[in-house]
Amino acid sequence: MLAELFTRGLRFARENPQILYTLLLAIAIPAAFFWTSEQFLRVARENQERMEVSRVVLLTDVFAIFTEERFEDVPYLEERIRSIVSQNSTMVGFRFIVASSSGTYDVHASLSSGEDGQPFLFTPGTARTAFLFDLAGSNPSSSYFSVYYEDGTRYMRTIRAIAPGGSRIPLGYLVIDFSMAQVDAVAAKNIQNAYAVLVLIVVLIVAMLARQAKIIDYATLYKRLEEVDKMKDDFVSMAAHELRSPLTVIRGYVDLLGDLSIDESGKQLLKNIDMSAQQLNALVGDILDVSKLQEGRMSFKSESLDPAEHIAMVVDSFKKPAADKGLTLSYEPTALPKISVDPDRLRQVLINLVGNAVKYTPSGSVTVKTALLKDGRVEIRVSDTGMGITAEDQKKLFQKFYRVKNADTEKITGTGLGLWITAQIVASMKGVISVESIRGKGSDFILTFPSA
Ligand code: ADP
Repeated sequence: MLAELFTRGLRFARENPQILYTLLLAIAIPAAFFWTSEQFLRVARENQERMEVSRVVLLTDVFAIFTEERFEDVPYLEERIRSIVSQNSTMVGFRFIVASSSGTYDVHASLSSGEDGQPFLFTPGTARTAFLFDLAGSNPSSSYFSVYYEDGTRYMRTIRAIAPGGSRIPLGYLVIDFSMAQVDAVAAKNIQNAYAVLVLIVVLIVAMLARQAKIIDYATLYKRLEEVDKMKDDFVSMAAHELRSPLTVIRGYVDLLGDLSIDESGKQLLKNIDMSAQQLNALVGDILDVSKLQEGRMSFKSESLDPAEHIAMVVDSFKKPAADKGLTLSYEPTALPKISVDPDRLRQVLINLVGNAVKYTPSGSVTVKTALLKDGRVEIRVSDTGMGITAEDQKKLFQKFYRVKNADTEKITGTGLGLWITAQIVASMKGVISVESIRGKGSDFILTFPSA
């Protein structure tokens, strides 16, 4: 059960890598923020604590001087103590302790004179305080600290031995208690602020996660769409294949019927059938080419050849349709180096370009010219004096299914696949296709190929 859940989760993560990114975002950012805040707060707290302690140490050092000078003058010492405490609000206890002849430690001077002469009780933290007395006694002029808690408040106890004139035997001990409540309150406030920002970050991240979830949805949807698109392409490709055979049969029968002795109107009908069958055949051919190109299944031979002979062949095949429209179709051959292309595909490209030139030129001429460019490339230019194409339309001309829509093209049928197929084939043969055109004047479709 658990293992299955784990594998399912793993599969989901593999199929939707965005989820990992999301999780990373949700965990890493608050964690990083938390860690830096912790470090920062710790350093800030330590610094404040250190400042507080140094202040107290300084005061004990100053007081040590008074005690050494006027050890016996208790009222004077107590007045000093009161004066120091009144200026240091964190101090809660200030005692000067001396060892008595009976072996006890007595209060010599303190904040409240009522304690004077009384034994020092070492509380709170009796054992620890006694230990600090030993430490301080063995190293006079150094201060020692211990922390204790009372009613939830943190206090510090400083103990320092006073040994006049560098003597190793202490005259007495200074015991100062001070509250860390202020330092702790500032730290608590900082922590509170840091948590508030953390909560804000987490809320922001959760909001982002909600958006991410949508992105995940979109990603799944996109994947599904891709699958559907692929299914559609497969279906179209299969349907086109299946259409080919009956079309061939129809054209075969039209041929056979043409051989029979039938009257003129019957022949015209047969011609119409054959024309439509040819159109359908061309369309099926285009659809198959599109699916082959999309799936990278179109094969290309590479032959080093003189394009002149192939251009002439294509131009010849359009002589009749051009003449039928009253167009002049010409080819001006020039001497060219060889190019390395697939001859069948080169002819297919030329058929598309010359075919379009004838198709979209109502009157005038279609000319095919070639040239050897300065950079060594071979140029084949198909020019016409036809309807021309606007700059706006030129930008989209090589997109799949794009057809120019205007009054001139209204009655001309087509699929908008020819130029897309042409551009793909040209690119596959390391060629470049471009267009130069002026609306109403004519167009030039230019192919360039590197010489072999
Ligand atoms: P189709 O001819 O089937 O519409 P193409 O991809 O061959 O598809 O051409 C796309 C569009 O480019 C055509 O619809 C046409 O408007 C425009 N076009 C192509 N060749 C020419 C040309 N020689 N002169 C003017 N317009 C052209």
